[in-house]
Amino acid sequence: MLIRQCLKEREVTLSCELFPPKEGRLLSEYKEIARKVAALRPTFISVTYGAGGGTSAFTAEVASEVERCGVPALAHLTCVSSTKEGVRQVLTQLRERGIENVLALRGDIPKDAAFPLPDQYRHADELIADIRAFGGFCIGAACYPEGHPESANRRQDMDNLRRKVDSGVDFLTTQMFFDNNILYNFLYRAQAAGIRVPVIAGVMPVTNGKQIRRICRLSGTALPPRFAAIVDRFGEDPRAMRQAGIAYCTEQIIDLIANGVGHVHIYTMNQPEIAAKILDNLSEIFEPRA
Ligand code: FAD
Repeated sequence: MLIRQCLKEREVTLSCELFPPKEGRLLSEYKEIARKVAALRPTFISVTYGAGGGTSAFTAEVASEVERCGVPALAHLTCVSSTKEGVRQVLTQLRERGIENVLALRGDIPKDAAFPLPDQYRHADELIADIRAFGGFCIGAACYPEGHPESANRRQDMDNLRRKVDSGVDFLTTQMFFDNNILYNFLYRAQAAGIRVPVIAGVMPVTNGKQIRRICRLSGTALPPRFAAIVDRFGEDPRAMRQAGIAYCTEQIIDLIANGVGHVHIYTMNQPEIAAKILDNLSEIFEPRA
């Protein structure tokens, strides 16, 4: 099923995210994780694309497993480490597998890489235009409520986002954020910039106190004082941090839905138990697919 259709038909959608293995020998283990998450009946499941691009076949394999379970899959696709021809080959493989939804990304530019080469896409907008021309896909793209780290300022970032949307995007998914007010402010600015496609809010249940400060530093995500206090207090105790992280994420989602943001993507990071707890906490709010 096309994700744009799910977003149109349902007031509240909850989706989950998985990442593929780095080595083929781990595929069956990762497919088992995909089956466990699919059994929770989220609206769709996205499967990330390895940063170097070398594991695209595993993204497609895990996405196919999701589809086999009757849940729509969203295959991520980055172009920074591929030629345009390489991207077309990936699209052909996805089409052959019946995967209809793609999250089109540039990806992070590897350190010391000569980028872009003449046969590469410079930004996601160029990739999106070519996927649209290729045909047959519902296309999502990334957006950054706190601005992308490479952007000089938020205004420039919004102008680039508008260009990206105009190149043929069906929906946007946000970078994770921990302060809903940042999202509300972003949505207001996006509306003012004429962006009309649905925006799916990305939230992450933080279950590892050590990792989160590093992730936030790299992605430019702010840790609001209320959440920083939780990480300070429970970060060294994995079980307590897990419980607090699930509770914080659940509360964040309830606040989003209560304020009219009905489409939420949960960065579940291959942890079916955590996805299960959050969806269970929301069982009267989110009606899973039959
Ligand atoms: P772009 O849209 O190209 O933007 C990159 C920068 O260039 C921004 O600063 C933007 O403002 C600017 N820009 C955009 N267009 C133009 C233009 N035409 N002219 C000038 N400047 C421009 N990474 C992975 O490796 N694998 C994944 O699976 C993955 N999934 C992700 C999912 C989500 C929801 C998000 C938010 C990010 C994901 N990422 C993933 C990370 C992403 O690849 C990086 O954030 C990357 O640096 C930017 O990708 P993009 O598609 O947003 O790039």
